[in-house]
Amino acid sequence: MSPRPSLLLLNAKLIPYEDARVHVLSSAFKYGIAVYEGLRAYANSRTNELYGFRLREHFERLLRSMKVARMSTTFSAEDFQRQLIDLVRANKLHEDLHMRVQAYVDEDDGRIGSTEPVSVAMAAIPMGRYFAKEGVHVQVSSWTRISEANLPPRIKAAANYHNSRLALLQAKADGYDDAVLLGANGKVTEGPGYNLFMVRDGILCTPPTTDGILEGITRDTLLRIASEDFGLSVAVRSIDRTELYVAEEVFFCGSAAEVTPILSVDRHAVGAGDGGPVARRLLERYVAIARGEVSDRPEWRTLIA
Ligand code: PMP
Repeated sequence: MSPRPSLLLLNAKLIPYEDARVHVLSSAFKYGIAVYEGLRAYANSRTNELYGFRLREHFERLLRSMKVARMSTTFSAEDFQRQLIDLVRANKLHEDLHMRVQAYVDEDDGRIGSTEPVSVAMAAIPMGRYFAKEGVHVQVSSWTRISEANLPPRIKAAANYHNSRLALLQAKADGYDDAVLLGANGKVTEGPGYNLFMVRDGILCTPPTTDGILEGITRDTLLRIASEDFGLSVAVRSIDRTELYVAEEVFFCGSAAEVTPILSVDRHAVGAGDGGPVARRLLERYVAIARGEVSDRPEWRTLIA
């Protein structure tokens, strides 16, 4: 179980962890009327500073998710950032963190269309690597990814994760570590909670955000590092299932997953089957920037403590 911080934040007020409760009849619980964010903070042991990674972009995405879900708020992305920083400071946390922000409709009237009251809760929890292993074996799921025609994957809605969970648990039941989902058009989308990249013929490829994926912030980060810092050729294009079988490298990325190599797809080894140099270099560079071990791209780091 994750360690528990003593304080959470609810609607901009610090409250004891135990007091952050939702009624079983609330829309958030009954219909999954909630949108959320997962963010990271990285500690720099040399400077003894803690940096939030791309906080503004996460809160801008939260506001987009809220807009699509018709949840209103008077708070801005800057307000949310300040609240999150206050929360981490109040808990006196000074280590690598995963931070969770949830906006939800806390109404128990049993109506599907309730849009208020909207509550926003925040938690900051110490966390190291997300995956216990250095790489994962994946199954291309028989579950199709939700699509823009029904539950838009672009937003981070809690209900979307029923689809993710079905795919993940099927993959585990079948002896794999994780899943890759195809979209309604048969093209590769993403994993249950991470975007996907592939290296083919030396080109770093990832599906476009119009192919039914979350608009991932790590995905954007890696695209920029790869092209601007490493001079790699990148292609944002649709990906076929069998391309994953013959690619030099395939990997997941996300705030929690960071960069995690995919070692096999449907039991076809990817490359030499032990991860690849592009994923390794991207992970190193990504963490060095996020942790402030290099001074580049200061706009991606927010000093928290
Ligand atoms: N896809 C899904 C479905 C996710 O849940 C996540 C995690 N937020 C990602 C992709 C990666 O997004 P990000 O890099 O913004 O964390």
